[in-house]
Amino acid sequence: MTNAEIMELTSKHVMNTYGRFPLALVKGSGREVWDADGRRYLDFTAGLAVCNLGHCHPAVVKAVQLQAEKLIHISNLYHIEPQARFAELLTANSFADKAFFCNSGAEANEAAIKLARKYFSLKGEGRFQIITMEKSFHGRTFAALAATGQKKFHLGFEPLLEKFTYVPFNDIGAVEKAVNANTAAVMLEPLQGEGGVNVPSGDYLKRLKELCVKSGILLILDEVQTGMGRTGKLFAHEHYGVTPDIMTLAKGLAGGVAMGAMVATDEVARAFTPGTHASTFGGNPLAASAAVAAMKTTLETGVLENCRKMGEYLFQGLEGLKAKHKFIKEVRGKGLIIGVELEEGVKGSEIVKACLEKGLLINCVGDTTLRFIPALTVTKEEVDEMMGILKPVIEKAGLAGKP
Ligand SMILES: *Cc1c(COP(=O)(O)O)cnc(C)c1O
Repeated sequence: MTNAEIMELTSKHVMNTYGRFPLALVKGSGREVWDADGRRYLDFTAGLAVCNLGHCHPAVVKAVQLQAEKLIHISNLYHIEPQARFAELLTANSFADKAFFCNSGAEANEAAIKLARKYFSLKGEGRFQIITMEKSFHGRTFAALAATGQKKFHLGFEPLLEKFTYVPFNDIGAVEKAVNANTAAVMLEPLQGEGGVNVPSGDYLKRLKELCVKSGILLILDEVQTGMGRTGKLFAHEHYGVTPDIMTLAKGLAGGVAMGAMVATDEVARAFTPGTHASTFGGNPLAASAAVAAMKTTLETGVLENCRKMGEYLFQGLEGLKAKHKFIKEVRGKGLIIGVELEEGVKGSEIVKACLEKGLLINCVGDTTLRFIPALTVTKEEVDEMMGILKPVIEKAGLAGKP
């Protein structure tokens, strides 16, 4: 099928929930993808921070192939070897003692919210309120939606699940004020992705952790986007010397196969007992095998080091652009999640479109933040190629913005 044929079929039969670009991607390898008409693109979106090892990484492909021939799915009525092995790998490399598996970020957050409530319910404490951040993003299901501190996602879906309180990100005083006898947890992304690539300042996370300990409430970190190496460490919270009680993961977890996880300390995880939570597909053999292969590759092949190096190189390149163009207000991020903040009125979506026409995929969050989230395996040559396409597009956007 051609791009046009696929687009026509989509518009006829698929619900209209996405503002899609006018092309269909049908093949990928590393940081390159090809559309249905055979055109090649350099991909700096990585399936929205999912394909951290690049498209169709051979280790993931092989694991999926082998497992698909053996056993694709079996229910959680029975023990599942790849699931147990992946849980061992995850807990051995994090603060967590136990893992629960599901299929997406939103589901992982639902599980985290349920676990926090159950934990305090079993203690006989009436703590059910959860403090989350403005500009946060936690997913589209109802609890995750209520946790998301952005009105635009709530519109038309009210009434939302109750007992979420929003405070500004990076404002410890606001959290202190919001905590009361009903508070169960503070839940946040250690570094906000969808809300504009917002980096935590100085000792914010450390003070937040101290506040949680002092108040006897849980710290839930949503690392759905920042986890699995995206920021140059396996988990973003490792940069800030804090550990949460509960952490959620998804996007980069299984090399492109749909999978989510909610991990926790033993103390908190104990609140889930048989019958309290479940997922039909969660941690099934196919997804768990892909996850084992993806995580081993991340840990054993220098992926984190490459992410830190290339992150710095890309950051420098973008800083160079900022120095030349007044309408670029800020470059921010960590590792290979980098945002470029444009002056209000400069349309990020127009820049994304112009890049697409020149064979480069980037994306824009909000109206004015360009987001760069390439595979963590990206090479220096590919960063150079990206900058070579971006530079003239930015220059043109600058000229167009002049009176
Ligand atoms: C993408 C994202 C989610 C939602 O994940 P889905 O798999 O789309 O449900 C939740 N939290 C964060 C931080 C995300 O970036």
